[in-house]
Amino acid sequence: MDYNKLADMLFPNINKQPEEYEERYPERNLPDGAKVTRLGPSPTGFIHLGNLYGAFVDERLAHLSDGIFYLRIEDTDDKREVEGAVEAVISSLDYFGLKFDEGATISGEKGSYGPYHQSKRGEIYQCFVKLMIQKGQAYPCFLTEDEITKIREEQESQKLTPGIYGKWAKHRNLSLEEVEKRINAKEQYVIRFRSEGSLENYFSIEDGVRGTLSMPENNLDVVILKKTGIPTYHFAHVVDDHLMRTTHVIRGEEWLSSLPIHVALFNAMNWELPTYCHSTVLMKMEGETKRKLSKRKDPELSLNYYKSEGYHPAAVREYLLTILNSNFEEWRIENPESSIDEFNFTTDKMSNSGTLFDLDKLNDISKEVLVKIPASELCQFLIKWASEHEPELENLFKGNEDYLTKILDLGRSGKKPRKDLIYAKQIFEFISYFYDDYFKREDKDPENITLEDHNAILSAYLESYDHNDDQNEWFNKIREIAKSNGYAEKPKDFKKNPDMYKGHVGDVSTVIRIALMGRSMSPDIWEIQQILGEERTRERIKSCINN
Ligand code: GLU
Repeated sequence: MDYNKLADMLFPNINKQPEEYEERYPERNLPDGAKVTRLGPSPTGFIHLGNLYGAFVDERLAHLSDGIFYLRIEDTDDKREVEGAVEAVISSLDYFGLKFDEGATISGEKGSYGPYHQSKRGEIYQCFVKLMIQKGQAYPCFLTEDEITKIREEQESQKLTPGIYGKWAKHRNLSLEEVEKRINAKEQYVIRFRSEGSLENYFSIEDGVRGTLSMPENNLDVVILKKTGIPTYHFAHVVDDHLMRTTHVIRGEEWLSSLPIHVALFNAMNWELPTYCHSTVLMKMEGETKRKLSKRKDPELSLNYYKSEGYHPAAVREYLLTILNSNFEEWRIENPESSIDEFNFTTDKMSNSGTLFDLDKLNDISKEVLVKIPASELCQFLIKWASEHEPELENLFKGNEDYLTKILDLGRSGKKPRKDLIYAKQIFEFISYFYDDYFKREDKDPENITLEDHNAILSAYLESYDHNDDQNEWFNKIREIAKSNGYAEKPKDFKKNPDMYKGHVGDVSTVIRIALMGRSMSPDIWEIQQILGEERTRERIKSCINN
């Protein structure tokens, strides 16, 4: 068989030589050890935590080694494409601080290894398919859907592995004349890889996450070019990652089973393999059992969830590193003040058996991260979040930045700062009583407080209130009020002689707290009053006295 003739017959319009592409996309000029990584999302519009998790690995590997992290849009499957999806990927990752150096951007493409949309790389793929045909490594296959279904049924009934291989690969050795005849008859065809592998032979490969893997060779004549002339994932991956000079391919473990195909294709082309890093799927606990995070059941799988709840990107990043690298938490304890960019992230410390995702843990980490962010920065963060998700709140915050900053800073100085800020939505609920329109009395007085005492306490408080009192003077007045109404000045006095009192000073301050904040739990009352201001403080006390 004259393979050159066959190649020209199948690809008469492909005139470029593979060498031209090799020259156009030379080895990258980067420092020794620099890693080139990519994110290759399909533009389906749904970008989830797993994507972010993988992208974070890509980004860290590239940027810790002075390498390149680029975005390639894998849009060969046009049925699945959703409008605006590319923008969504870029802006979602940007929100979490992941910036691409190269590739598809919102305003076009950046970098000299493009095009970065697979849909624009048709000629390149076809040029390399043509090369494979010339070398006898690929062939046209005219099997129809019906024939393939029959083959599958036959294989199933004989309990054989499905696929086109061995005797099932009926068009592997068609003559040139036969091919020509079928093409002239307008029969449709795909291009298949002519596999030389056997399931009996094993090869080994170093996975960046899993260590040495031993797998059987690929024996399938997989499709590399579809009827439409569009490549399959397998082929596009191999060509793109070679020509874009990717050094590390980070992808989900669902690709592990295709690895033998990719290795066979790289070998057929005589190209160096990238380092594969197959990450694990994200799992969560449901009761006692671990299960995969699911798009349908778990809103927290969507990245939009974190944006609309208002998780700070720094908290999410910190959390991702915690689940990505088993030694991160230890490092954090030793380096509490360091930027996470200083942590030496490595793939070999990644889990290879299902990473557990836990919202409670994220919340705990978020508290620690937020306590280190200055209140003025948090204020800006809340305003930005509100502008995108709660426009009503934006109006409330804007122009009152000082007020909000003071609120956010409440109880955060000193040795034991309060750690109750987690994410924007929760923060607003937590501080909403500072805003009259959102203030409501949610809690009730302690049970031992009668209506009469309630009124007596608040009236006395209002009367003695001096906004200029320092914290001590202020609290002494509360003790005074407690005493004159039959409540112990100190909780321990009450504990000793419970029969002598109606309650203690804590009950009295709870009445005041609820009058002011509507809640029985809050940060320090005196500090809150200083922020609320005298007028608002008096107003709230007054409105809580029942005449
Ligand atoms: N386009 C593939 C996907 O969305 C990317 C896999 C890879 O990174 O190689 O699943």
